[in-house]
Amino acid sequence: VFSSDNVPQAPEDPLFGLMAAYRKDTFEKKVDLGIGAYRDDNAKPWVLPVVKKAEGILQKDPNLNHEYLPIAGLAEFTSAAQKLMLGAESPAIKEKRVASFQTISGTGAVHLGGLFLSKFYLRPNDQPIYFSSPTWANHNQIFSNVNLPIKTYPYFSPQTKGLDYDGMRAAVESAPEGSIILLHACAHNPTGVDLTHAQWADIAKVIRAKSHFPFFDCAYQGFASGDLEHDAWAVRYFVEQGFELCIAQSFAKNFGLYGERAGAFHFVTGPGPDAQNTIGRIASQLAILQRSEISNPPAYGARIASLVLNDRELFQEWEENLRTMSGRIIDMRKALRGKLEELNGKEGSWKHITEQIGMFSFTGLSEKQVLKIREDAHIYMTKNGRISMAGANTGNVEYIAQAMDKVVR
Ligand code: PLP
Repeated sequence: VFSSDNVPQAPEDPLFGLMAAYRKDTFEKKVDLGIGAYRDDNAKPWVLPVVKKAEGILQKDPNLNHEYLPIAGLAEFTSAAQKLMLGAESPAIKEKRVASFQTISGTGAVHLGGLFLSKFYLRPNDQPIYFSSPTWANHNQIFSNVNLPIKTYPYFSPQTKGLDYDGMRAAVESAPEGSIILLHACAHNPTGVDLTHAQWADIAKVIRAKSHFPFFDCAYQGFASGDLEHDAWAVRYFVEQGFELCIAQSFAKNFGLYGERAGAFHFVTGPGPDAQNTIGRIASQLAILQRSEISNPPAYGARIASLVLNDRELFQEWEENLRTMSGRIIDMRKALRGKLEELNGKEGSWKHITEQIGMFSFTGLSEKQVLKIREDAHIYMTKNGRISMAGANTGNVEYIAQAMDKVVR
């Protein structure tokens, strides 16, 4: 029987609570460093010029209608998404051993992957899924909801404010053989700390030796460095090494298509004579899961991304737009670090801000300091000291630096 007494009050999503508190604040110089979306130098959302252009093209298309997409989504979108992620010359694409499904952005892709693995991944010893500590908070919920046991590997070193590679490696090495290892492809959320190429190659060896299964979450390709190839390096390296793996790909940040929910899930099987058969079976099961969850994915965002991804000129313009976004973020990192070090006179004391990459920076501020900065300066950030660099601009970066400097003294 249903008893409403059996439904406890759930805690509020911390990020959405923070946004609400920011909106309520009437202080003129308030700053939102919690947001997970790009803002321009005037703190406004930015519709990418190339997206506007694609929207114009779409609106003029006389054949445009609102019919359902196929279960796997818009084929020209998923095939372009595949090439973007794996590289047009990828052996996996050439050997037709990739199954790709359009999903409800990156979240939907992580979920579809989680659901698929919860049904078909053999875990005789109850092998868990491991993700980094910390990670994007939703990972926890998504994988718990499909009943995969969760464990974490160390990732961030509070001392260096960089990667705790030794800790990560040791945990991956001692995980029970055949565990699932979730990896952020680039621009790790929330720390902004990524592995070097040498570390990726080394962790790949450990993953192979332990027969673990790599699951890549790629939410920031092109947005992190401004270079699509560079940001896809780790995924492509693992595929080249012949791993069987899966990838959740989001187009929210790199196209600014947040609310349109454009994303893709890719499953790549290892090479071998039976690979095409295998991928056919996998795709058939993914189709059933997709059908039962969403029937078919939303069309609008995928149509826009598809137009851009499949047109040489639009693609180049998109790359330009990506460089604008990532360039502004990198400039803000330099400005924030520069002002902070100017204030305390200690060169290198905030170097982690420019060493980290992508939308977020893990400042190292404690929860107490975070709350103090909110109270004193009306600057909003998550309790773990993560700041969204997208919230910084030429008009407020000095103010942010002054407030941060004050709170750490
Ligand atoms: N994965 C990571 C690591 C993220 O940071 C995000 C967004 O913040 C996502 C996935 C998914 O985002 P979306 O569902 O908007 O594509």
